[in-house]
Amino acid sequence: MTKKLYIETVGCQMNVLDSELVVASLRKRGYELTDRRPKADVLLFNTCSVREHAEEKVYSALGRLKHIKRQHPQKIIGVIGCMAQNHQQLVFTRAPYVDLVVGPGQLHQIPDLVDRIHDGAGPQMEVSLPRKGYDRAAIERSFESYDPLRNPEMRPSAYQAYVRIQIGCDKFCTYCIVPKVRGPEQGRSPQQIVAEARQLADEGCREITLLGQTVNSYRYTDGGRTTRLSDLLYMLHDVDGLDRWKFVTNFPRDMSDDLLQAVRDLPKCSHYLHVPAQSGSNRMLERMKRGYRVEEYREMMVRIRETIPDATVTSDFIVGFCGETEEDFQLTKDLVAECRFKNSFIFKYSERPGTKGAELYADDVPEEVKKRRNNELLEMQNSISEEDNQLRIGETYQVLVEGPSKSWLKHGEDGAPLQLTGRTNWDHIVVFEGNQRQIGQFLPITIYDANAFTLFGEVVTRHVAPEVYMLTAP
Ligand code: SAM
Ligand code: SF4
Repeated sequence: MTKKLYIETVGCQMNVLDSELVVASLRKRGYELTDRRPKADVLLFNTCSVREHAEEKVYSALGRLKHIKRQHPQKIIGVIGCMAQNHQQLVFTRAPYVDLVVGPGQLHQIPDLVDRIHDGAGPQMEVSLPRKGYDRAAIERSFESYDPLRNPEMRPSAYQAYVRIQIGCDKFCTYCIVPKVRGPEQGRSPQQIVAEARQLADEGCREITLLGQTVNSYRYTDGGRTTRLSDLLYMLHDVDGLDRWKFVTNFPRDMSDDLLQAVRDLPKCSHYLHVPAQSGSNRMLERMKRGYRVEEYREMMVRIRETIPDATVTSDFIVGFCGETEEDFQLTKDLVAECRFKNSFIFKYSERPGTKGAELYADDVPEEVKKRRNNELLEMQNSISEEDNQLRIGETYQVLVEGPSKSWLKHGEDGAPLQLTGRTNWDHIVVFEGNQRQIGQFLPITIYDANAFTLFGEVVTRHVAPEVYMLTAP
């Protein structure tokens, strides 16, 4: 009988990709995916450590499995990913019925570890080396990733895929746990990346998103020759079958002119840039150890607008970081008003033990102030997003159709026209009526309505004869 695997993923796109790879490796050992926890023989939680809330949610989910494990002790429960690397033995202490703890740099070991547990070896833990106390090469090796195994079934859509071009991070922003749990920054070889992109294109994928914590600092040196992200984009342009790509997340200081020019000059490159600012106050940026001043961020925005006038830019902000005053917060609001981001992800500061921020500064902004600043900034960003989206009414965009929209999946009825969703070259979400056959195609869509988050449109048809309508390019 086939064994069943249940996997739950929280966190960023890196985690979504990691889950895809874990599923692929367990499939090779005869596992089949299930979305029902009680049916599963192996239950894995792929976790995030960026905020405390994300970790606590995993412990609550584990708590709900306690009785299942008591009734079915042969089931294997695993905590994998960033929280596994961050908490290590603590996971077993807080949830003693967990069998498996595996950090993000050791995921390739999961099939063997699961077999070992089946054979009676007891709980297993595999994590990477800490960032201090070992030489860099040894630490890097302990965080190696295993990207070539892909599993289309786990992708957000069959026509889109993530490709990792860089792992880890060396920026050490004082609030952030990522450098600790994801290890040193390492670029992947361009040959491997292009080979993977080719494989994905052969499988029918039309769009890829290149992933890295600071993707625009990507560098790979071999035989004295260094490949930058802009070089890699040129190499990917030759991959037949791929029609569009984007890359996330960018670091402001590394937004070089050669990269902006490549985005401008390569027709397959999305004109969308995610470049988190985190704060508009130099005092906060310094405390966060972001390595730039707000003037430099503004200068970068000017260069983006000059080089790619139609680019959409999105950002991340942390509100309520240690010592943030109303004046600091006002400076963040000023930056948002000035930059008119397409959208921003706004987070309340969450102290992370093990970071420099937790060691150096008191988490002294009260929760209700963090909440109020979060809501204020969100409201401001949403009204900017809505105003800008409204300006797109009447425009026609090429949209890569991803699949049925989430609301249709919830409320759609048999026989009702299918509500589809897709994205523009500027990363706007577009919802429109269509049919199953259109999924995976690029279609011209004219926008007739918009809110802060979504553009609503209809497929452009061209009247070519009394009773014949054809799809047409804009
Ligand atoms: N590497 C990316 C970068 O440098 O922007 C993003 C990494 S992080 C997973 C995504 C976002 O989470 C960050 O941009 C930041 O806004 C937020 N974040 C990170 N640590 C946080 C913390 N301790 N509390 C609240 N938000 C945090
Ligand atoms: Fe975290 Fe800063 Fe690295 Fe982004 S650049 S992953 S925020 S340390």
